[in-house]
Amino acid sequence: MERIYFDNAATTAPYPAVLAAMTETAQGFYGNPSSLHSEGQAAQKLLSACRAKLAGLLGCAPDELYFTSGGSEADNWAIRGLAKAGAKKGKHHIVTSAFEHHAVLHTVQALEKEGFSVTYLPVHEDGYVRPAELEAALRDETALVTVMYANNEIGTIQPVAELGAICRAYGVPFHTDAVQAVGHLKIDVANENIDLLSLSAHKFHGPKGIGALYVRKGLSFPNLIEGGAQERSRRAGTENLPAIHGMTVALETALADLDKTAPCVRALRDRLIAGALKIERSRLNGGIERRLDGNASICFEGVEGEALLLHLDLAGIAASSGSACTSGSLDPSHVLLALGLPHEIAHGSLRLSLCESNSEAEVDYFLGKLAEIVALLRDMSPVWEKLQNESKQEGR
Ligand SMILES: *Cc1c(COP(=O)(O)O)cnc(C)c1O
Repeated sequence: MERIYFDNAATTAPYPAVLAAMTETAQGFYGNPSSLHSEGQAAQKLLSACRAKLAGLLGCAPDELYFTSGGSEADNWAIRGLAKAGAKKGKHHIVTSAFEHHAVLHTVQALEKEGFSVTYLPVHEDGYVRPAELEAALRDETALVTVMYANNEIGTIQPVAELGAICRAYGVPFHTDAVQAVGHLKIDVANENIDLLSLSAHKFHGPKGIGALYVRKGLSFPNLIEGGAQERSRRAGTENLPAIHGMTVALETALADLDKTAPCVRALRDRLIAGALKIERSRLNGGIERRLDGNASICFEGVEGEALLLHLDLAGIAASSGSACTSGSLDPSHVLLALGLPHEIAHGSLRLSLCESNSEAEVDYFLGKLAEIVALLRDMSPVWEKLQNESKQEGR
């Protein structure tokens, strides 16, 4: 059997049309978009067309989009930029959630060291921020609110439009890390009261190393890189046109097919979840209602997530024990701890993230292997033995 890829939240395979667009652009549009000659102007025209197309797909104006090297850069720029603009007005308070991606969390923590105070909204056992709790957290000196659109580990989708409406009512700029959501959900930044939004192409079958930050017009916001007039002088540097074109084709394709692919991906996910939860002492992390179509995050008591992951890899299946950025460290994920899971349960977590090229046969093969591997690992686990003894005593 060919390998099975269930780690689309870490990154996705580029669509063939994306690779074709990138090659065509690198060969045929190598001119510098800032050059005045024909080669430059052809590249400039393609760049503008891509920006306009992407803006249309997101519900914003072309000059509200700034290309970046990806999601991490967009998150860093958004948060540092808003913090700086806020500080100028004497505002030194930030509101975020407890389970943000590290690109957000570490930026906020760095600002905390620099003198900002931060409120971390709880995400509760179901993995959702409560709008009323955001409203209660806002202060006169709040410089920004940043809450992710959809969580990268447990897939829960936040009530972004409501959060944005509250921020707007209080005049606080609202940023959302939508890296897991763009290309997977229909998003309209204007309708959803979003002031800034981060996205990254490689999470929706586009190239790596390219993304964008949407910044609503009229917002006071500082430059990221000095040195040229690119991106309206806010982020200098010759544009990565092959990647920008690839990203544009990827988003167009993902959204054009979404009505068709989303129900299929959801059905695969639900089959996977139902099968996995037949294993005793397992649980789904995060609510099922508002959840990314491809995401299944499951904990198995008495099992180490890393061991499970390595055994699955040997069986031909690529999965994740949490987010790729934290694997390698043996601390349980901050996301699962934010849900209130105890350390020993959070250790046994597995994230499967599916896409439209996965199949029922793959899910069924995975479920068979999963049951075998969990049983094998539990056989060797002192934690599992202890759990068994405890439940025997309770039964007595
Ligand atoms: C992947 C990811 C990022 C980082 O994006 P890069 O383009 O890899 O820098 C940020 N936020 C979330 C939610 C992500 O899933």
